[in-house]
Amino acid sequence: MGNPLGVHALVWTGGWAPEDAELAISSTAKAGFDLIEIPALDPSRIDIADTKQRLDAHGLKAGFSLGLTFETDINSEDSACVERGRATLMSALEVARGVGSSYLGGVLFGALGKYPAPVTDRARANSASVIKELAQEAARDDIVVGLEFVNRYESNLLNTVQQTLDYMDVVDEANVVVHADVYHMNIEENGFRKPLLLCGDRLGYVHIGESNRGYLGEGTIDFGEVFEALADVDYTGPMTFESFSSAVVDPQLSNTLAVWRNLWSDSMDLATHARAFISDGMKRARDTRGQRAQ
Ligand code: MN
Repeated sequence: MGNPLGVHALVWTGGWAPEDAELAISSTAKAGFDLIEIPALDPSRIDIADTKQRLDAHGLKAGFSLGLTFETDINSEDSACVERGRATLMSALEVARGVGSSYLGGVLFGALGKYPAPVTDRARANSASVIKELAQEAARDDIVVGLEFVNRYESNLLNTVQQTLDYMDVVDEANVVVHADVYHMNIEENGFRKPLLLCGDRLGYVHIGESNRGYLGEGTIDFGEVFEALADVDYTGPMTFESFSSAVVDPQLSNTLAVWRNLWSDSMDLATHARAFISDGMKRARDTRGQRAQ
């Protein structure tokens, strides 16, 4: 049994006007993926009915992701800031619900960006309290909330699996899962196997990206170790390919992620290569595991 495989919309386009949505959704289907991850940093730019109709027409599912800004940071001691973040998250949840998606993930727990100082207890408590409320609201429609821990330059709150599990214990809601991204793990963890085993069944979503966020296999990430660990925890959830190049720009997200270089320009070649790389890699890992068990 295989994992649902997805691709981030920014592989295709940086906008979400109807023609952008059509390009991204039809290309995702054509490349053989099961789902598309749609960035919802500004939930108001997504036309819910139009997006749903195009997904249905191409037989695709969607997940939504976002990171907050420092103006909407719930990982803050400023209550006005926290309230703005709460409103953004609830709007994003409305979009996911309206489109019929079962996944909302990303840096939901705070701002996506470099903080000038370490996290404080009060800011962390504010963050966990809003995420608890979001999860309870999401549970009404069986929507899973994924916490994507990221590298130190993109959050001061959750940089590792262990920190994410500890934070999840505070939130204490069953529909909150770990969203692991190997690009970030490559920077912050001592390896891939131990932290992925530590997640166990609390792992709910995986981003597959290279160390330079380009073509899979051309960087330094040990994907053999990643895929074997995922097979060993019997991970059957979504695996979404994430890659960024200056060839495709989202005015908001690309600058936040420091996408300055052109790592590719042929989106379809990149995406079909990634799909085969992930699918073949997971099959190999499961076969190896099966042989060891015999
Ligand atoms: Mn990611």
